[in-house]
Amino acid sequence: MTVRTRFAPSPTGYLHVGGARTALFNWLFARASSGSFIIRIEDTDRVRSKRVYEDAIVEDLKWLGLAWDEGPDVGGPNGPYRQSERGPVYIDYARKLVSEGLAYRCYCTKKRLQELKLEQLKAGLPPRYDGKCRDLKEAPEGVRPVIRFEVPAGGVEFTDLVHGPVSIDPVKAGGDFIILDSEESPSYNFSVVVDDALMGITHVIRGDDHLPNTPMQILLIKALGFKPPQYIHLPLVLAPDRTPLGKRHPGTTLRALKREGYLAEAVLNAASRLGWSPGAGFLGLEEMVKIFKPERVSKSPSVFDMERLKGFNKEALYRADTERLVTVVGPHLEGADRGWLAAAVSAVKGDCTTVNDIPELLAPFVEYELTDEAKRHLSEPHAPGLLKALLEEVENVEGLDGAVYRDVIERLKKRTGETGKRLLMPVRAAITGRTTGVELEKVFTLLGKEKILERLKSCLK
Ligand code: GLU
Repeated sequence: MTVRTRFAPSPTGYLHVGGARTALFNWLFARASSGSFIIRIEDTDRVRSKRVYEDAIVEDLKWLGLAWDEGPDVGGPNGPYRQSERGPVYIDYARKLVSEGLAYRCYCTKKRLQELKLEQLKAGLPPRYDGKCRDLKEAPEGVRPVIRFEVPAGGVEFTDLVHGPVSIDPVKAGGDFIILDSEESPSYNFSVVVDDALMGITHVIRGDDHLPNTPMQILLIKALGFKPPQYIHLPLVLAPDRTPLGKRHPGTTLRALKREGYLAEAVLNAASRLGWSPGAGFLGLEEMVKIFKPERVSKSPSVFDMERLKGFNKEALYRADTERLVTVVGPHLEGADRGWLAAAVSAVKGDCTTVNDIPELLAPFVEYELTDEAKRHLSEPHAPGLLKALLEEVENVEGLDGAVYRDVIERLKKRTGETGKRLLMPVRAAITGRTTGVELEKVFTLLGKEKILERLKSCLK
């Protein structure tokens, strides 16, 4: 059997880390099994689905580096891959079920269904369609019917790879359900079943919020004569406030994380830990493919941990190719020479938590302006003497690598008798204009002799 998995987002919002986790696990399993990974856009909700969200989701998945074999943008033999373009397929299958007596047209008005629901709730019963139109002899005129699937009596059992044996009674759950609405638009359960079958999906890997839908889908699969896929329901992802991750957590969308300076590799590592425990170390996609086993996924909800993401991002930055980072931060450091920028990024990338820290740390090298705090240190009585001595020391050296820096500071200590903060703070304030930032040794090397002299002179004036 050739494994075929799919990620089937509804374009009703931006992709968040929970969605990225689902996409990643589908991708990993397909790659680990030399199978195919498919993207399908589930945009049958015409009101809430937006093309901008679809475009954003596709862009974010590409950013993560999860390439797909078939999808709305690349096409493939089982398209179209957008449900809104597959209307006739669903209508055909719904009619087939009606002609076989497995589904029926229902003419009940919204008003009747509402009244039925209220009655049932009053009687302490779960709301459920009562099957009034099951054996309707004559169709009322002027009413556009929906098509309902006739749920057979008895429960449905299936084995989920993560949850083990699951048993749910769909009659009790809601009774005969709608598969095509009065506008001939398919319900979620129906379109998913038809598409998964026609697209040859062998493993359905998705969030366990879809676990209650699975029995309905299995009944439809049987009625349509399709083969059920293997189900793998992934545990719920919670935000740090312990509510399910979603629209109320805009900071966890891939857009937001990218904007905040997180790298895709770090987001992938954090997402992979949502329900899977491959150890604490940083993993590349290829390493994940080698060790991913869906049966090792946990059942219990997992909390998305921002601190953990930060840890992975530090590691990702440390490992990241300097040129790639230069391309990202270059526009934020206008006027910086490209060769210098490469050396500077390479020197500080290991000190950063996010990409945005890089221009922040390098700004004092490009523009020189004293902060109030720096001015305060420079107005200390011992500062002018110290800076004068430093000026002389720097004038006497050739280059300014790490060893020379240490030498200069040693001599400065001896000459002035100052140590610790009293020695280093005025030095830092004078040559960077600030009181915090990159290690002084790196400052000396990156700034260079000429600029240091220039800044010291301007302070002494
Ligand atoms: N479109 C569904 C969602 O975004 C996923 C459906 C599925 O994976 O079966 O939740």
